[in-house]
Amino acid sequence: MSRYFSKKYASLTPYEPGEQPRERRYIKLNTNESPFPPSPKAVKAAEEAAKSLHLYSDPTAKKLHKMIAAAYGVGEECVLATNGSDEILNFCFMAFCDKTQTACFPDITYGFYAVFAELNGVPYEKIPLKEDLTVDISDYAGKGSTIFIANPNAPTGIYLSPDKIEALVASNRDSVVVIDEAYIDFGGVSAAKLTEKYNNLIVTGTFSKSRSMAGARLGFGIACPELIEDLNRVKYSTNPYNVNAMTMAAGIATLEDAAYTASNCAVIVENRHFLTKELSKRGFTLTDSKANFVFASHQAFGGEALYLALKEKGILVRHFKKARIDNYLRITVGAKEECLALLAALDAIIK
Ligand SMILES: *Cc1c(COP(=O)(O)O)cnc(C)c1O
Repeated sequence: MSRYFSKKYASLTPYEPGEQPRERRYIKLNTNESPFPPSPKAVKAAEEAAKSLHLYSDPTAKKLHKMIAAAYGVGEECVLATNGSDEILNFCFMAFCDKTQTACFPDITYGFYAVFAELNGVPYEKIPLKEDLTVDISDYAGKGSTIFIANPNAPTGIYLSPDKIEALVASNRDSVVVIDEAYIDFGGVSAAKLTEKYNNLIVTGTFSKSRSMAGARLGFGIACPELIEDLNRVKYSTNPYNVNAMTMAAGIATLEDAAYTASNCAVIVENRHFLTKELSKRGFTLTDSKANFVFASHQAFGGEALYLALKEKGILVRHFKKARIDNYLRITVGAKEECLALLAALDAIIK
């Protein structure tokens, strides 16, 4: 750290992304990317858009907003597209939290919430998951602080139904509730429609997981027009052209090719069931994941030992050195061959 670095940020512990090694070819089951390439229509649209890179992208993202709105059955004035969903989450901390309007989220969840809170100088409370790693919404009733919940949760994959989400939102009408639906397409039902009924709900989504566009960086928020206006105030004060032209074109084309996304998601769900069954046979205990990953602990082998042994064999999974979950592995559900390679490697390790 240089002596010029802002005192404001000196104590920040940045988010630690999963490894993206370039030195060796791994089977990558550690960052929940899609094993499938982007829609060929998205690739073509991005190529076409590249010819106009001398011009700024559309700061209003009009066509993209329209497409996202149609996909979720809401008005286009209820959508804001961002540079990955990490950006909309940061915008939510900037727009709806401060020293007195604090934040809260589960003790075990997406690591970026705490980082964004620290970045923005927002005090936060971590609310413990239950013993079985589920979120109990009654812990959040009338909290008085801005609530961030990933649904399905990460890294557990455990999902709350829309009626639970509605109860959570209804019990906190004086605070904003942010529901992060990064993994909703793998077996959940989006709460986006509830934004028409509740003016304190923001639903966020991403193109990184189910839509095979992690490298393009595209996310979005859905909320009532008034909250979108607040978020736009933050966007236009930080980066008006936050979604680049190639990504915008690829995102539109991906939404036009919804059948491609749907069939990829169906394969992932089928592979998740397969992997769950096979890992259980091998002595693993798994959470009931509705995401594109499983969360598993072995009765005899520790999480870190298994992570290292798999890495040795060319397979990357995610291990968190964190109380309560350090015996677990988070394993991305890949293509069938990747699942089979993982199982073969585990068989060799645990004999
Ligand atoms: C992957 C992920 C995101 C962010 O994804 P982006 O690539 O920034 O769109 C947000 N929330 C959760 C829970 C995630 O797992």
